[in-house]
Amino acid sequence: MPVPSHVAASETGDALLLTPGPLTTSRTVKQAMVHDWGSRDAAFIRINRMVMDRIVEIAGGVGTHVTVPMQGSGTFAVEAMITSFVPRAGKLLLLVNGAYGQRAIRIAKTAGRAVAVLETPEDTPPDLARLDAMLAGDAAITHVFAVHCETTSGILNPIREIADIVAKRGRRLLVDSMSAFGALEIDASAVRYDALAASSNKCLEGVPGLGFVVCREEALAACAGNATTLVLDLHDQHEGFRKNGQWRFTPPIHVIVALGRAIEEHRAEGGVAGRGGRYRENGRVLIEGMRALGFRTLLPDALQAPIIVTFHMPTDPNFAFQRFYDGLKDRGYVIYPGKLTVADSFRMGCIGRLYPADMRGALTAVREVLDELGVAVGSPAMAAE
Ligand SMILES: *Cc1c(COP(=O)(O)O)cnc(C)c1O
Repeated sequence: MPVPSHVAASETGDALLLTPGPLTTSRTVKQAMVHDWGSRDAAFIRINRMVMDRIVEIAGGVGTHVTVPMQGSGTFAVEAMITSFVPRAGKLLLLVNGAYGQRAIRIAKTAGRAVAVLETPEDTPPDLARLDAMLAGDAAITHVFAVHCETTSGILNPIREIADIVAKRGRRLLVDSMSAFGALEIDASAVRYDALAASSNKCLEGVPGLGFVVCREEALAACAGNATTLVLDLHDQHEGFRKNGQWRFTPPIHVIVALGRAIEEHRAEGGVAGRGGRYRENGRVLIEGMRALGFRTLLPDALQAPIIVTFHMPTDPNFAFQRFYDGLKDRGYVIYPGKLTVADSFRMGCIGRLYPADMRGALTAVREVLDELGVAVGSPAMAAE
């Protein structure tokens, strides 16, 4: 076995995660967790309040919006958002171009909500004219669900244009901004939504375990009695905080304290613009380098979000994905399989505590592993359809 020339590692010696999340986090974020706090104690309540307020600031919703956190992964927040905001007699139109949109359909159906679906292929943004026509033609639709960056492919959906159409038609928008919030601009004063779901462990670079929903306060106030579960009831969760600043049920305290530290680091980096700038540079280095090696991206640059990049699987008969994956892992880089229906593919993320130098390191590793597999770099077979 050839020995890797270089093995990459995070600040704490772990492999770098070029994945859609959970992600590589800083040493200081992890170190923030080496304490204990009482969940009803004033010190924790203060940290919790601060973290929720900072999220509203990042969202651009000070004075109009509130953050309602939800224990669990991001999907718990999406399910809480859909089932707390769409009334039992409401109808949800879902814009779908990937697995997270599909998951939202399952959530709505499981909760017994009426749904309509506008689906486009995974490499195609939603059809805005069709959205407008569906809203005009179906008075029963009360809410629209859209995914900001569909992490399945890495496509950036036109959330602002979607919001404008939904507002013009007098309906309400629910956004899954899980993989974009904190890195891609979505300013609550310019993009009208009732609720936006995200989580601790993506672009905010915290550890996993907390979802949250940024809610327009006026809209949230009208949600009493909508929920079809006790634990995922955002209105009730918010009432608890309003009464005494406390969680109804055990909070993921360490995750929240680590998120507080992660948000300080986000601010020090220059907020959304700074974080997004680093990810854009990561993405640019990755895409240019992979193209130079002969790989093709699924998406044209105009549709690509600087979050995660989908590459076509090479057609060279010597290429075997598991060996490619293992070779990169041996060199300290963890990549992600694809889950597309439109193409055989794999993904490489550019978010988390990663810098352009890490992306260049990953490219060196890719070149070495291709050599090991006997796949010619930039070979025509690789670039072919
Ligand atoms: C990560 C992600 C989620 C949540 O996934 P979990 O595994 O539950 O954290 C939801 N939507 C999108 C677009 C995501 O990228």
